[in-house]
Amino acid sequence: MIKLCKALDVVLDNASLLESETIPLNEALNRVLAENINSKDNLPPFNKSSMDGYALKSTDTGEGQSKFKIVGSIKAGDVPRTEIKKGEAIKIMTGAAVPKGADAVIQIEKVKTCKDELEVCGKVCEGKNVLMEGEEIKKGDSVFERGTFLRPSEIGMLASLGYGRVQCYRKPKIIIITTGDELVGVDDKITEGKVRNCNEYALVALSKNLNVSVKSYGIVEDQKEKILGAVKNALEEGDIVITSGGVSVGDYDFIEDVLHEIGADIKFTSVEVKPGKPVTFATFKNKLFFGLPGNPLSVINTFEIFVTPAVKKMMGRKDVINDEFPVILEDDFKSKGDRDNYIYVNIEKKDGKYYARNTGMQSSNALFTLTRSNGVIIIKKGIKSVRAGDILNGKFIFK
Ligand code: AMP
Ligand code: MG
Repeated sequence: MIKLCKALDVVLDNASLLESETIPLNEALNRVLAENINSKDNLPPFNKSSMDGYALKSTDTGEGQSKFKIVGSIKAGDVPRTEIKKGEAIKIMTGAAVPKGADAVIQIEKVKTCKDELEVCGKVCEGKNVLMEGEEIKKGDSVFERGTFLRPSEIGMLASLGYGRVQCYRKPKIIIITTGDELVGVDDKITEGKVRNCNEYALVALSKNLNVSVKSYGIVEDQKEKILGAVKNALEEGDIVITSGGVSVGDYDFIEDVLHEIGADIKFTSVEVKPGKPVTFATFKNKLFFGLPGNPLSVINTFEIFVTPAVKKMMGRKDVINDEFPVILEDDFKSKGDRDNYIYVNIEKKDGKYYARNTGMQSSNALFTLTRSNGVIIIKKGIKSVRAGDILNGKFIFK
């Protein structure tokens, strides 16, 4: 059994950044840029009105009332042909180009008009309601560096810069293999000795949550040859292979045997973590193999601890480890002290501090507890009990 932090180091040492690929911008959300982005244009590309109003010369206005002749109207998308002369104004819509000669726009709500006469009260400052060409970004400016995580705001920015395709790090393909002769499908009736296969769904959902491509091979019976065949195929097809179940010491737990048989490099088969002790990790060529335990809470816990950071690193993300923060306990909790114990809780922020509340039984099959939880606290190995008021490290889950 190895320490949790050591096991995570081993996983991350073996998770390498994937190569990059050029993809359409509308597929780039939540991916990481593999190129530097410079602006091809000034933004805004021209002096632009930010209001519906009248464009005029600011020097034509003063403390009292000023009168103007309205000489036309410009809408967004128009090319203004007229040059504004002294005493003239032109009606202008939001987003339209401010014509030559004008240096300010007065809002429509702030003026009086009568036929082609405009009356302005008070001084209008130079540049008022005008977005100047290049004031946001200048042509050639560096906008995003390689390694930038693309959120909706970055996607929009790239579109306005004219990048319809961008180079991003490839996302890994995860193959999921679910083992267990006791499993029936989600639509099946539960007969004697059977349980519904929830892990396959949870693992697909966990993978989708990371924006990877995922494929499930469905349920594979607890027969060594069948598991061997599925694992071999999966290691051909995927970058990461995840199995559920079959990593304990029972007579029908074949994952470790299969890994030996194919000559995988087994890095660990047991970690000081609860729930999830029998988690297994191996590499095969440049592929990663995670043998996760079958209990529904263990499978999610070990995916979050080991698979999520590996995937993030392979996709080029910098937030590989979800930050822990101090959490004040509102209930007492117990632990055996033999492993780092992950306790699923509800974390709430009150007056700038985080508080954790018990959400129910913590046995490794207690998936219902997890549905009532938004976070986890960690009772470190060696500690057997903690009390309300104590402070532990915690974090939010599925981030
Ligand atoms: P195993 O790790 O294969 O020994 O399984 C441990 C426990 O998890 C057993 O009680 C199994 O019935 C249960 N289990 C294993 N796989 C699944 C699954 N896909 N869905 C629900 N429960 C499972
Ligand atoms: Mg099993």
